[in-house]
Amino acid sequence: MKQQDNIQQLKGIGEKTAKLFHKLNIDSIHDLLTYYPRDYEQLDAEVDIRDLQENKIFAIKACLVGTFQVKKVRNLVISSAFIQDGSGKIQITYFNTPYISKTVERGSYYIFRGLVKINKNGVRVMEQPKVYALSEYEEKRGTLQPVYMLTKGISNHAIQKAVKQALEVVSIDEFLPEEILAKFQFMSLHDALVSIHLPFHYDEVLEARKRLVFNEFFLFMLAVRGQKTQNEAVPNENQMLETAETIRLLERLPYKLTKAQLRVWEEVKADLGSAYTMNRLIQGDVGSGKTIIAVLALLLSVTNGYQGAMMAPTEVLAKQHYESILEMAKQFQLPICPVLLTGSLTAKEKREAYQQIESGNVNVILGTHALIQEKVVYPKLGLVITDEQHRFGVRQREALAGKGDSVHVLVMSATPIPRTLAIILYGDLHISLIDELPANRNPIKNCVVNTNYRKKAYEFMQKEITAGRQVYVVCPMVEEGELEHVENVIDYAESIRAIFPPTIEIAILHGKMKPSEKNRIMEAFHNHNIDILVSTTVIEVGINVPNATVMMIENAERFGLAQLHQLRGRVGRGDKQSYCIFVSGNDNKATMERLNILNKSNDGFQIAEEDMKLRGPGDIFGIRQSGALEFHLGDIYNDASILKNASEAVESLLKSDAELSHPENAILKRYCMENQEQQVDFRSI
Ligand code: ADP
Ligand code: MG
Repeated sequence: MKQQDNIQQLKGIGEKTAKLFHKLNIDSIHDLLTYYPRDYEQLDAEVDIRDLQENKIFAIKACLVGTFQVKKVRNLVISSAFIQDGSGKIQITYFNTPYISKTVERGSYYIFRGLVKINKNGVRVMEQPKVYALSEYEEKRGTLQPVYMLTKGISNHAIQKAVKQALEVVSIDEFLPEEILAKFQFMSLHDALVSIHLPFHYDEVLEARKRLVFNEFFLFMLAVRGQKTQNEAVPNENQMLETAETIRLLERLPYKLTKAQLRVWEEVKADLGSAYTMNRLIQGDVGSGKTIIAVLALLLSVTNGYQGAMMAPTEVLAKQHYESILEMAKQFQLPICPVLLTGSLTAKEKREAYQQIESGNVNVILGTHALIQEKVVYPKLGLVITDEQHRFGVRQREALAGKGDSVHVLVMSATPIPRTLAIILYGDLHISLIDELPANRNPIKNCVVNTNYRKKAYEFMQKEITAGRQVYVVCPMVEEGELEHVENVIDYAESIRAIFPPTIEIAILHGKMKPSEKNRIMEAFHNHNIDILVSTTVIEVGINVPNATVMMIENAERFGLAQLHQLRGRVGRGDKQSYCIFVSGNDNKATMERLNILNKSNDGFQIAEEDMKLRGPGDIFGIRQSGALEFHLGDIYNDASILKNASEAVESLLKSDAELSHPENAILKRYCMENQEQQVDFRSI
């Protein structure tokens, strides 16, 4: 069996199960093997009920006393019962798990393993303990058990079983050249996959992880570097010179550009008029005002007789850009004639857009990946801009630029990648920094709290809403999964509907919704038809609703600080005082300390650095910096040294064999071809 094969090739995985796996982005066996555990659990020996301590996870051997009591509270079904051993009794509770009363039989002993809490009445409870048959626990005791992210309908055990089978039947060829393996003393690819999924020891996990992170960075950089040569110093065939229009726009804007914006604008202008084609990355914190630089560049390009295109990672963001540019064009009488091109347009609308673009009737094209569809023909493309660059693969950026001849490329990102890393990652780009926020901003007021604070937070939100403002609430998950103690958008919205008066409009937004539905919701939020938007991190990227003044983030401990900072950037975008409430699902001191960094600083770069210091390289499966460059395992901050090694290894490999045509690199070449998309395509929303 090959890694590219569909997982339905595995025994026990039929169409129905495959559909569930698809929800986890697992389609091929390769996807399955790179679906790494998010954590490991060590199943410890049982303790006596008498010795249980609060806020810790324990295993106990006990049997049921009496029967389960079932209670309904709002949309929650709570089943609770008492269990006992020779030393004492403890309550167990389950939420929305009605079948539990059938699983646990009276009179039999089981191992119950879960978190011990003291409830409001001072009673000790074990929450949602996992139940093991004695023999099963016996077998697993002392071992490391991988813990996977799950979705409804797929258990941890099911993933474990599938992975185990895949590791047995799939041939896993080593693709790294001998020399690199030896230099870094890496374990083989096969061993690394076995060790990360089925480890005996933590040390083994660490070794495997090193190898697999290297893989990710190495393949990514190989793809970047492969294209770099094309980008270097292309003579500028589309010279653009400053026109009166951009100067006029600057005079008419209701604000003055910051010094940093002005400097970056000068750099962009110089590039466009220079002897070489522009290839520039603009890095600027959320709210630093990158969009206006893009608009100026588009305007310059239009007034020089070219078309300009701007690609955004989500429909919502593309639409927002379209609308704000349309608005500016009207308000300031700019010679810009924009069109929006996204996947959710009807076939007819798309055809019309293509025709408008091809005929040159429109000169600014805004959209999503739809911009790089084969059918789109740009007769005079001079400039392409990608917003929130980190969401795109290099290949997509290239594909857009390839729509014209030696097109100028501008990429914009709020991801605070330290400069040294940026040069490793995008070695082929010049970098401009917008390192200053507009002066009219009120710094956001932050607080880091635990879930007890919710009631107060809701009261505060209601006050802001009454004053005419809007609110975001972010939850990590879309729907109820098997991940315990993690809020999900659907149930959360349901539960707060019961708390707020019905006059307050509450809506949800998440990545599993259809693009057209997402657009509708964002538009309604924009138009203030929605007061509270309960959302996943879909809203992280670039959304601009200045009337929103409160951001509440549930389970903040589950996000990377850089990502929390991005989320916070959705408020404080107007002149009104804004607030960000980070709700932590636990009171753990280290967690609070980490979140408090956000309390102290509003500077994305500083936050990224502090986060890295605090977490340290030991924190292997801590928090994913998702939203930044998305690797399965690798973290560009914590794994900076592996990134550097991978970069050097790629450099030296390409120096000796630029085309990967030497026989010893044949497997690597094949691997790159076969896995191109997976490796370079970043997960978009
Ligand atoms: P980002 O860099 O996160 O993409 P935007 O470009 O969306 O930020 O800008 C955020 C908000 O700040 C917008 O409403 C924009 O009009 C405004 N803005 C941009 N530059 C300035 C400035 N120099 N002074 C005041 N407001 C500005
Ligand atoms: Mg932006």
